[in-house]
Amino acid sequence: MAATIAERKLLVDGEWVETGEWQEVRSPYSGDVVGRLPKAGADLARQAIDAAARALGEPLPAHRRAAILDRVAHLVEERQEELAQTICAEAGKPLKAARVEASRVVSTYTTASTIARTLAGEVVPMDASEAGVGKLAFTIREPIGIVGAISPFNFPANLVAHKIAPALAAGCPVVLKPASQTPLSALFLAELEHEAGLPAGWLNVLVGQASEIGDVLVEDERVKMLTFTGSSGVGWDLRARAAKKKVSLELGNSTPVLVEADTDLEDAATRLAQHAFSFAGQSCISVQRIYVRRAAYDDFVARFVPKVEALRVGDPASDETDVGPVIDEGSKERIAAWIAEAKKGGARELAGGEEHGLLRPTVLADVTPDMKVSCQEIFGPVCTVTPYDTLEEGLELANSTEFGLQAGIFTGSVDTALAAARRLEFGGVVVNEAPTFRADQMPYGGIKASGNTKEGPAYTVREMTEERLVVLAER
Ligand code: NAP
Repeated sequence: MAATIAERKLLVDGEWVETGEWQEVRSPYSGDVVGRLPKAGADLARQAIDAAARALGEPLPAHRRAAILDRVAHLVEERQEELAQTICAEAGKPLKAARVEASRVVSTYTTASTIARTLAGEVVPMDASEAGVGKLAFTIREPIGIVGAISPFNFPANLVAHKIAPALAAGCPVVLKPASQTPLSALFLAELEHEAGLPAGWLNVLVGQASEIGDVLVEDERVKMLTFTGSSGVGWDLRARAAKKKVSLELGNSTPVLVEADTDLEDAATRLAQHAFSFAGQSCISVQRIYVRRAAYDDFVARFVPKVEALRVGDPASDETDVGPVIDEGSKERIAAWIAEAKKGGARELAGGEEHGLLRPTVLADVTPDMKVSCQEIFGPVCTVTPYDTLEEGLELANSTEFGLQAGIFTGSVDTALAAARRLEFGGVVVNEAPTFRADQMPYGGIKASGNTKEGPAYTVREMTEERLVVLAER
């Protein structure tokens, strides 16, 4: 059956615009065209910033921003299945996972509306020092200004929501550039924001040559903040080029998890088999490196590998599918090359191969820390299993990459969990759940090469507002 082709336009200054040039969106599974939309260039990006600047000149009070966010949450809830189908079609994300993402968008908007209603400064206790006696002081939070947002392909709806919902909560107009491979979910959300009554200029969505639009966002001084989620190379380069702006980066990881011998191995194996491979490992916190206490290693592997082999690989549109395609042929070839390189260096493949032209979930043992499958972000359906002898050694192995987004540990001991939480050099440490876990109200973000900020509406709103101090002298 031929795929349905979604026709979309770009959103600039409250209008749905065409540019005369078109681009196509293809299913990563079938290669069929699933969407068609106009291609934007630098001129349209400048017009979008002009529109955002006009919007900034006509601030919306918090109660209106919150009401719009609530309406969008409601509209997404009503059309959740359509959004899930869009995510599945353009990203090749299995429908099961796409439905979870669509429901999380509702939660992201709902949380953002609460933040919009409660955003406030604080009172400063001025008489705490002699210099302050006779003064009253408090802070207010002012919108930082126009936000340029750039989002990746792997959560094409919820990571867009994590940019545009907090921006509206903060009172900042946005120029959004979603990933070229997955723009349809972003434009779907833009349509709902428009329908919810968002005035012109508050949200502008452009898709086109990334470097061309990116350069405009970097160079235009009216854009006060860039919020970027994507790969480390692109992110740090943007930050280096935008010295005068605030630049928030949410980047990659090579996610480690420790499995201690005192844990429930069956439970750990079940959760990790699910979370190393959902969306074919294309999540920034997909479980990549599993370290297991030597005493439990053989038992864990004997439980884990059959669960991985039982995962169903195939058409993402099927309700039965656990693992679909990776985003494109180039990614598939790179992942296969890293697996081959590891095997050539002595790694053993405990599960893997191909099925219907797709990569099967792959488990590698006898991996060394310098192999790409271990120290770099594989962003594919691959994980490694490695034994360790002491907790100290396990923590060192987990910390042995440049990344620091999220890590995890399975253990029955509170002492061990707390020691790991202190020693793991990551923005988040998850205990007794796969470190792929994220709820949208959490402060989420990495350290080291993984980034420099926290997302989650309450935290993003802090980034998107500036604290201003007001001092009143009592007369
Ligand atoms: P990517 O290739 O870096 O692309 C991300 C976005 O940047 C896309 O919109 C892309 O546009 C744009 N872009 C590329 N080059 C650019 C340039 N020179 N100037 C401005 N924008 C540019 O990343 P991806 O492959 O889509 O996503 C995967 C990466 O994102 C992984 O590393 C993953 O770990 C990371 N990620 C991090 C988080 C987090 O919260 N920490 C969450 C999800 C994903 P085009 O699509 O048009 O090229």
